[in-house]
Amino acid sequence: MSRLDVRFLKSVGPARAAKLSKLSINTVDDLLLHIPRSYLDRRVITPIRDMVPGRESTVSGSVISIEDRRTGKGRRILRVVISDGSGNLPLTFFNARFIRGRLPAGSRVMASGSLSPFPGSGIVHPDLVFPDALGEDAPPIGVLPVYPLSDGLNQGFLRRLIAGVLNDPGTVIPEYLPPAHLRSLGWESRAALIHSVHRPASPEEGEKARRVLALEELYIYMAMLRQVRERSDSLEGIPLPAVNDIQTSFSASLPFMLTSAQDRVIDEITSDIRQDRPMRRLLQGDVGSGKTVAAAAACRVCASNGYRSVIVAPTEVLAAQHYRTMKTLLEPFGMTFALLTGGTSSGERNRIKDALEMEELDVLVGTHALLQDRVRIPGLALCIVDEQHKFGVEQRESLLSGLSPRPHMLIMSATPIPRTLAMTIYGDLDVSVIDEMPPGRGKVVTMVRGRDSRTEVYRFLEERLSRGEKAFIVYPLREFSGESELLDATSSFRILSRSGLGRFGVGLLTGAMSAREKLDVTDRFLSGEISLLVSTTVIEVGIDIPEATVMIVVNAERFGLSQLHQLRGRIGRSGLDSWCYLMKGEECGKEASERLVVLESTSDGFEVAERDLQLRGPGEVAGTRQHGLPLFRIASLIGDQDLVEQASGLVAEHKLTAEIRAEFEHRFMGSVSHGI
Ligand code: ADP
Ligand code: MG
Repeated sequence: MSRLDVRFLKSVGPARAAKLSKLSINTVDDLLLHIPRSYLDRRVITPIRDMVPGRESTVSGSVISIEDRRTGKGRRILRVVISDGSGNLPLTFFNARFIRGRLPAGSRVMASGSLSPFPGSGIVHPDLVFPDALGEDAPPIGVLPVYPLSDGLNQGFLRRLIAGVLNDPGTVIPEYLPPAHLRSLGWESRAALIHSVHRPASPEEGEKARRVLALEELYIYMAMLRQVRERSDSLEGIPLPAVNDIQTSFSASLPFMLTSAQDRVIDEITSDIRQDRPMRRLLQGDVGSGKTVAAAAACRVCASNGYRSVIVAPTEVLAAQHYRTMKTLLEPFGMTFALLTGGTSSGERNRIKDALEMEELDVLVGTHALLQDRVRIPGLALCIVDEQHKFGVEQRESLLSGLSPRPHMLIMSATPIPRTLAMTIYGDLDVSVIDEMPPGRGKVVTMVRGRDSRTEVYRFLEERLSRGEKAFIVYPLREFSGESELLDATSSFRILSRSGLGRFGVGLLTGAMSAREKLDVTDRFLSGEISLLVSTTVIEVGIDIPEATVMIVVNAERFGLSQLHQLRGRIGRSGLDSWCYLMKGEECGKEASERLVVLESTSDGFEVAERDLQLRGPGEVAGTRQHGLPLFRIASLIGDQDLVEQASGLVAEHKLTAEIRAEFEHRFMGSVSHGI
């Protein structure tokens, strides 16, 4: 196998290994899966004279002059003029000092890109090839791969490195797709595929090979999920029938009517947990759609059968909130509760452990630290995990593995992902969706505003606060970072406390605060001692403050659409109308601005997620992470959606091999999980 560390390659020392690692390239396998982002077709050289503005082309010439200057704003512009005998062409680079040394007068260069419509700009940031610098291992001139780069690595180096590995007869390329299927697609072996993706005869061939590798990747992922599912289905579960109209009495006890969507998902859950195989269900619903109530119904059924439930939340604040909600909803039935988090004192912890051993508790609420601690919960039959996107598939498994009989698992997620993707991502889960909001909610109006509207927005904020309503101000940064234009939550908190708004009570909530401080400020916000909470995205998940009616997001362009959607779900949770202001920063460009406007026009989380993926593209690692989607290296969750069906068909027909399993672990383990 080629899990060989790249450091063992001749031209890679520790410094380069570190840079490669930034591109997720740690092994030779990773290197071969570092596929080109595009190809440079140098078979066609266009004379400079024949270039057409706006059209991609490649020219070949020699450097005749170099000019390096600064603009008024302090940006550096490098202008290099090349000539090919038919004409002269400027190449323009902004803030790209490193280019300078590579283009001495007289040197030969091939430049690709599209000719700018502005006279005198020529090609701005062209892709460059330096024919004099190509080493022996370089592929024959023709189609060149253009790789994604990171700081300090250049195309030439990656091209030589990858070509070297491909030329090495010792390189072993393992097979993953069923061989017959690979052949039916026109490839003899995976090795042929890998060769074609890096050095195709034409860009089209390269793209064809990439698509097969994308199929392979989806196949590996889905095959693994299917196995997880099959194994779970074969385990012994704990049947939890809902006897004596327990569902009816639960509904009747609520201060509101369940929505029909809630009724439906509660039916789906209760009919799952009455089975003698463990439930694996995902409960999806937009923020505020009432998932917690559905979870409480399941806890109620569980307790009535004499078993325990555990609820796991990603943060202490959320755990505390679930604890309160569960108490309110379920205490009338005589059920008992405990809250166990990292902040729990050791005395309290021991008391809880004793109560668990005595089977005196019905519901234990905590953070996932609680499961890592391996707190023993005798009689555990239902495990509810909130905000699934903070966990990876492997963590999902580790929560329950080893427990026999296996408890039922319900995962709640407020991150809507496009339905078309659910099949890939949640292949091991059944999915329930709450697609209806509880009635009687006020409307939430979202507005994108520039800095010139600040005064107006803050005046409006003051007016709402003076009516006894509450508000959030959200910043992308916790503390001053040196980026002068960006305000941060901590500084803003200080300024606002001393401003006229100070009289409404201003609080600060950031990820750097201790659990106790976080809970304390949340409590004061709930009780009304504080009416204005300055925060970072720590409030993104689940905080429920019904009287909050205003949210101001500063430098909104810094956030993904789905994240902003999550954020604004913190307001509009009562009958009052609410307002979400997305404040654009100075550097917010036209594209970012258009992206934000999507939120003005829709409040449907699924639609937002779809638009977010389309606009930012799944290559945006940050965005992908926010979705909690697995980090596919090759498959594009937009462009390759049609391959999902195909992969699913293959998964159904073929067995999971040990190689595929190992490859899954290598590619995906740890990639999904991240803290907040
Ligand atoms: P989610 O977890 O899906 O974001 P919650 O379960 O926290 O949503 O519910 C949000 C708020 O709506 C809570 O205050 C809850 O009591 C209330 N709620 C839930 N279901 C209903 C309903 N059917 N009618 C009215 N209010 C509801
Ligand atoms: Mg919630």
